[in-house]
Amino acid sequence: VSTSARLYTEEDPLVILSSSNLKPAVTNSSSAWFLQFYSSWCGHCIQYSETWKALARDVQDWQQAVRVGVLDCAQEENFDVCKEFNIKFYPTFKYFRAHSPETERGTPYRGADREIQSVRQVMVNILQNHTQQDWPERCPPLRPYSSAELLPLLGQRSDQYTAIIVEEPDSYVGREVVLDLLQFSGVEVRRALSLDLPLLDALKITTFPSVYLLHPNGSHSHLHVQKQLRFFFSSVLRTLAGVQRRVRPSSSTAVGQGGALQDQQSAWRDFSSSEVYAADLESALHYLLRVELATHSTLQGEELQVFKDFVTLVSKLYPGGGSVVKLMETLSDWLLSLPLPRIPYQAVLDLVDNKMRISGVFLGAELRWVGCQGSRAGLRGYPCSLWTLFHVLTVQHDATPTALDNTGLEGGAAPVLQVMRRYVRTFFGCEECGRHFERAAAASLEGVQNREQQVLWLWNQHNTVNDRLAGSLSDDPLFPKAPWPSPSLCASCHDEKNGVHEWNQDNVLLFLRKHYGASNISPRYSL
Ligand code: FAD
Repeated sequence: VSTSARLYTEEDPLVILSSSNLKPAVTNSSSAWFLQFYSSWCGHCIQYSETWKALARDVQDWQQAVRVGVLDCAQEENFDVCKEFNIKFYPTFKYFRAHSPETERGTPYRGADREIQSVRQVMVNILQNHTQQDWPERCPPLRPYSSAELLPLLGQRSDQYTAIIVEEPDSYVGREVVLDLLQFSGVEVRRALSLDLPLLDALKITTFPSVYLLHPNGSHSHLHVQKQLRFFFSSVLRTLAGVQRRVRPSSSTAVGQGGALQDQQSAWRDFSSSEVYAADLESALHYLLRVELATHSTLQGEELQVFKDFVTLVSKLYPGGGSVVKLMETLSDWLLSLPLPRIPYQAVLDLVDNKMRISGVFLGAELRWVGCQGSRAGLRGYPCSLWTLFHVLTVQHDATPTALDNTGLEGGAAPVLQVMRRYVRTFFGCEECGRHFERAAAASLEGVQNREQQVLWLWNQHNTVNDRLAGSLSDDPLFPKAPWPSPSLCASCHDEKNGVHEWNQDNVLLFLRKHYGASNISPRYSL
């Protein structure tokens, strides 16, 4: 089978099984499994693969209770195992209960409806069909709790929140939110039914689904969400103070601010997540010029070109026209005036230092992370500020379409992203990040046709990275990676269609323009 026929890759949030690991995976597993046996030559399987990937993404936080996998029966090495598991048509869906014996060959799911919401609900039913004996260890109870169990908790202190979702008996939202929070500590989610009148009376609940929150200090209240949707409930519960994603083992290394140059001040700087801070942007440039580029003793060829283009880009698009722009303009003029094929990097540093000393042109003399502060050294910092800088630049390019005229910068409809791509590939200290970003750019940057799409491409790519890194070692527990902007930052950015979360991209664009726009950049903590 050629690689182009591979419908699923390691980047998809599902398990790719084969003859060698199918049985070990599903035998006596601590989780249930929902598998698709497909064939890479079957047209329907090809069409369906996007839905299956979206399903896997939708339930990726449930994997300790139920895992999603695929097995390609068109691969020669899998012929025998597909026969043994009695696969005659493609795709065939089978599920395996947790703790299945070795002889188990799976129960077929023959439902005609294969849309995400329906399959997800089938997965919930499969979990609920377990008995007390074979219940998946990490799966919390999905049964409804009664008022007799819940009301005594009111007023009690606890070491965690308890969220009670009260809903109609046929609603799946409660159980879905229970599973969405499975990987999070600090909150326990319980389901209760709208038929339980003593509970409704005591909690004064009149609409369904509703969430009632018992706080660790014994107080309790309704939880306000803008839309009564699964995504909103899960998202608000995940961001309660003290609620944290449990770190999952991951191969990716933590990418933080780097040890070479640390933020000097250890006192916490208060900030608002709805603002962007000039201090972070200045620190990004400071780190980039003094640490990241300084590891290159000379710049030549593509490196020199990328550096020149980066400086030109920032000088033209950095908002506000302050000292950063002056410094970048000076650097840019100087670089363009030098006909040299190679430049010792020390000369760049000398220029930056001299320029700053003589003319008072100023770029923060130290790192000052604000919106990019990490809860400990090594988290957030520089990579956070680099994302922020490029989001600001894409939005500024959208706001000032002619800013890059006559600069010679190439890149068609996406000049900012092309510079970012080349910068990340050439200089960004995290090689793995560079490889991932390059792969994404190579796959879809060509499709960007205008400045709006340039803004949205970067937003979308950043969310893909957030998704991949959630719960990894580089995930700061105080600032957990999650789809951004959250409902509390932008409720109108989120919709739901057929039970599946959907972005409202028009509103996302409006939000990005506002959030990363010049007037939302706070000078607080900047020098
Ligand atoms: P960040 O992800 O750095 O985000 C910074 C801020 O941007 C957030 O606080 C939020 O305010 C805002 N934001 C979040 N999401 C979005 C969005 N979708 N659109 C707009 N704004 C948003 N680390 C790895 O371990 N592996 C990798 O492969 C990897 N690849 C990377 C590729 C690039 C190009 C970059 C710049 C960084 C990469 N990193 C990678 C680092 C990682 O993405 C984070 O930057 C780092 O872990 C710090 O995370 P953070 O919590 O500060 O949030």
